[in-house]
Amino acid sequence: MTAEKGITPRAQDFSAWYNDVIMQAELADYSPVRGCMVIRPWGYRIWELMQGALDGMFKATGHQNAYFPLLIPQSFLAKEAEHVEGFAPETAVVTRGGGKELDEPLVIRPTSETIIYAMLAKWVQSYRDLPILLNQWANVVRWEMRTRLFLRTTEFLWQEGHTAHATAAEAEAETRQMLEVYREFMEQWMALPVLTGMKTDSEKFAGAVRTYACEGLMQDNKALQTGTSHFLGQNFAKAFGVQYQTATGTMEYVWSTSWGASTRMVGGLVMAHGDDLGLVCPPRLAPLQVVIVPIWKGEGERETLLEVAGRARADLRRAGARVEVDARDGMKPGAKYYEWEGRGVPLRLELGPRDLAKRQVMAARRTGGKTALSLDGLADHVTRELEAMQQALLAAARARREAGTVRGVTKEQLIERMDGPGGFAYGGYCGDVACEQAIKDRTKATIRVLPDPEFRSAEAPATCVWCGRPAETEAVWAKAY
Ligand SMILES: [Zn+2]
Repeated sequence: MTAEKGITPRAQDFSAWYNDVIMQAELADYSPVRGCMVIRPWGYRIWELMQGALDGMFKATGHQNAYFPLLIPQSFLAKEAEHVEGFAPETAVVTRGGGKELDEPLVIRPTSETIIYAMLAKWVQSYRDLPILLNQWANVVRWEMRTRLFLRTTEFLWQEGHTAHATAAEAEAETRQMLEVYREFMEQWMALPVLTGMKTDSEKFAGAVRTYACEGLMQDNKALQTGTSHFLGQNFAKAFGVQYQTATGTMEYVWSTSWGASTRMVGGLVMAHGDDLGLVCPPRLAPLQVVIVPIWKGEGERETLLEVAGRARADLRRAGARVEVDARDGMKPGAKYYEWEGRGVPLRLELGPRDLAKRQVMAARRTGGKTALSLDGLADHVTRELEAMQQALLAAARARREAGTVRGVTKEQLIERMDGPGGFAYGGYCGDVACEQAIKDRTKATIRVLPDPEFRSAEAPATCVWCGRPAETEAVWAKAY
C-alpha cells in the first residue's frame, strides 16, 4: 500500500488493516524467504523497549541472562517423548556443514530446553547448586508456510526463561511468579489487560506438566496468547539425567520451569490499540513519545521557531522523554501530522508564531484532543500527558475486553457468539476432551484458559456448556490467533 491509498478501515477488513498499519508505520516487511519477516528500525525499537522492561523485571526476580547455541543435536530432541512429537513437524534440520554430510543432523532450536538440560546435567551436583535461574534472549525457528507479520513467522525473536529447583513447590511458585511478571508487564507497559489461567492438556506446551498463559483480547474480538509459563515437573530432568544430592545425601531429579514471550507481542500491541489512522503506541513503548512540529512561513520565523523547538527538545530529553523536532523543509505540516500519526507517536507539539507569542505549544494527543501547554515547565506538562495517555489506553482496552466478554453461556449462546461477534465466552466445562474438540469443530473457538480465581465468575457454572454433565471447572472460549 502507499500513503496515498491510506489504511483499510478496521470495520471493512481487520486483517488488511493490520498489514496496512505495519507497512505504513514501517514496523516490518516481508522477506525474500517465505515465512520470514524483516523487522524494521521502528518495529525493532518497540521490541528493544519491551526487552528492556522485561529484562529489568527478570533481573529483579533473581534471573541471569545466558546464551546457548542455535544448533541442537537431533538426538537431544528425541529424549523427551512428548517434546519431540510436538516439535518434530516444525523443526528445520541442518544435514550438511563445511561442504560435508554431518554425522548427526542438527536441529535449529525451536526452543532450548533440551540443550539447556544437557548442560544442567553437568553443572548441577548438589542441592547447593540450586536454584538455577536463567533467561536467554534469542531467535527460534518453527517452520511456517503462512506468514502473518509478528504473529506467525518461521523465525521469531523471544526470551526463554529456564529454571531448576530442588522441590516441586518451588518450581510451581516460580511458574506462577513469571506468569505474574508477564501480566504486570502487559498491563503496565503494553496497556493490555490480559486474562491469566491454565491451559487444558490439548493446548499445553509439549513436554510440560502444566502450562499457564496470558491471553489478550484484540479489537476484532479474537484472543492472542501473549506469554506462557510452564511447570515442567521432572520430565526434562529425567530425560537428561539432571540429578542433585540432597542435604541428607539422597539423589533427586530437579524440578523445572520454562517461560517465554516473543515479538508476537508487537503484533498484539498493534491490534490492541491501533485505529483507522494507523499505529497507536502506548507512551512507555513508543520509539518516539513526542514530536515537535514548528510551523513557519518566512525564513525569520523559521530560525526563531527552530531555536525554541530545540530548547524544548533539550528540556524534554533531560526529563527522560524520547523526542524529536520535525524540521523538514518543503513538507506541509498536515503531511507531517499524517506521517507521525501513522507511526503512532503519542504526542505532537505544534509550535507556530502565535503559540510562541503566548509562550505555549498546542499538544495533540494521538488518541484525539488538543490542549495548549505552557512552554514554562513544559517537561512536567508533557510527562503528565504521557502518563495520562498510558492509563487511558489501558482503561479503553479494559472496557473493550469487558464489552467483548459474556459469562455463563449456554451451548446456543456459545455458538451464536462465536458465529457472530466473537470475544471471550465463559462457561462450565466437564473436563472431557471430547467436548473441547466438539466445540472447536463447531465454533472454531478453543479453550484459551481455565481462568485464575480473580477472573472467574462470581457464580461457578454448574454444568458443562456442551454436554450438560456437571462442570469440573469454568473455562474461557475464544477464537484465537
Ligand atoms: Zn462436556
